[in-house]
Amino acid sequence: MLEGKVAIVTGGTRGIGYAIVKKFLNNGAKVVFFGSRQETVDKALASLKEENANYDVMGLFPNLSSEEEVRKAFEEVKNKYGKIDVLVNNAGMSSRTPFDQHTMEEYDKVMDLNVRAVYTCSRVAVDYMKEKGGVIINTSSMVSIYGQPSGVMYPASKFAVNGITKSLARELGKYNIRVNAVAPGVTETDMVKELPKEMVEPLLRTIPLGRIGKPEEVADAFVFLASDMASYVTGEILSVDGAARN
Ligand code: NAD
Repeated sequence: MLEGKVAIVTGGTRGIGYAIVKKFLNNGAKVVFFGSRQETVDKALASLKEENANYDVMGLFPNLSSEEEVRKAFEEVKNKYGKIDVLVNNAGMSSRTPFDQHTMEEYDKVMDLNVRAVYTCSRVAVDYMKEKGGVIINTSSMVSIYGQPSGVMYPASKFAVNGITKSLARELGKYNIRVNAVAPGVTETDMVKELPKEMVEPLLRTIPLGRIGKPEEVADAFVFLASDMASYVTGEILSVDGAARN
């Protein structure tokens, strides 16, 4: 479904991002994934190459809140592959600190990665996509629709991601750049493994499908949105959450 496309995936070293990278590669794309440090990038690369030595994949680790570093990384991708068709803004961190213990430091940390990095990478991507069109897909969350009972800036950051998605879809349509988001529900990744049982069990009861999602199930939505099968889909927040409502 992605034959001949060149994609950048942020936060591609593990979890949902790693599943996206693998699905994109299996669908014929050339993929450059970003991680936060050399060590985790190397580990993910080794594991991908072990699965298939022929994967056309590369890993980089720019600081996502530095426009200069992001620009350098995009330029490296352009030099290697000649173009950039798809950007997946997936890197993100969660938070569940009660509001009366919340600090400005935490506010900055969450907003820096979950919002500023989405802004920065999208801003740079547009310079590479403007001429021939492209696709931007953001990882939102089901909490961008319902909020959550602690860690206020996590849902707030994902509401911002939806705002960026819907607004850029309207603004960039004239360049044939489609902008969508996927809003995963509870998905089996490190982020969720860190959550206490007391938080996960009541959540499970609110999921009609009765189970948490797999990263691969979430990644399939990204493949669809990145592909030409979604050529008339833009400004959409696609829930992949087993109809979870909380
Ligand atoms: P994860 O913690 O397993 O992976 C996070 C990824 O982001 C890693 O590749 C990591 O390298 C990267 N990252 C973290 N901090 C970074 C930084 N400062 N700079 C650059 N990269 C950094 O998380 P996940 O569960 O796979 O989450 C991926 C996305 O999905 C996030 O945006 C998250 O908010 C969203 N999400 C996850 C769930 C879930 O249940 N797991 C649900 C809804 C939304």
